[in-house]
Amino acid sequence: MDSTSGGASDPNAGEVPSETGGGSAEGSSVAPPSRYESQKRRDWKTFLQYLRNHKPPLTLARCSGAHVIEFLKYLDQFGKTKVHQSGCAHFGLTNPPAPCACPLKQAWGSLDALIGRLRAAYEENDGRPESNPFGARAVRIYLREVRDGQAKARGIPYEKKKRKRPATATENASSEMAQVVDGGGGSSDAVASTTTSV
Ligand SMILES: [Zn+2]
Repeated sequence: MDSTSGGASDPNAGEVPSETGGGSAEGSSVAPPSRYESQKRRDWKTFLQYLRNHKPPLTLARCSGAHVIEFLKYLDQFGKTKVHQSGCAHFGLTNPPAPCACPLKQAWGSLDALIGRLRAAYEENDGRPESNPFGARAVRIYLREVRDGQAKARGIPYEKKKRKRPATATENASSEMAQVVDGGGGSSDAVASTTTSV
């Protein structure tokens, strides 16, 4: 087969159909993967890779919530979000006037979305919901601690969302969320939608 030259002709490059039914896709799914889907697959591969490199070796079946938390902490080294330590003069400032030596971490929003994707991927790969380590209570508690800690350290009121407003997508809040979501760390900027809070 002759390939046409210069053929970067992806028909659906920019536009993603708004609705990707998260339902059970039995048999063949012909539709091209959405950004969420491809991100989810990438995340899943990353996690399996992490398990493979784990010492001592760790299988998916033996993976617990504690291991998931370990994984999230491991990801912090690739983070791009400055999280001020309590001794830092910029602690609690949204826009610090100068650089400081505080560590970069994964933003809470990134981790939260990541866990949502991995949780779904686990069950799509024949994992049983009741043993899903990504849905473990410990993981939820950890994420909450990260959220609260980063809210204090970075002066960002994550609680904002909980005010008595209808559950429409708040656009002015999303601009603030954009700072929160990590652009880097191997993951793309595909963290568009927040995961469902459970
Ligand atoms: Zn600092």
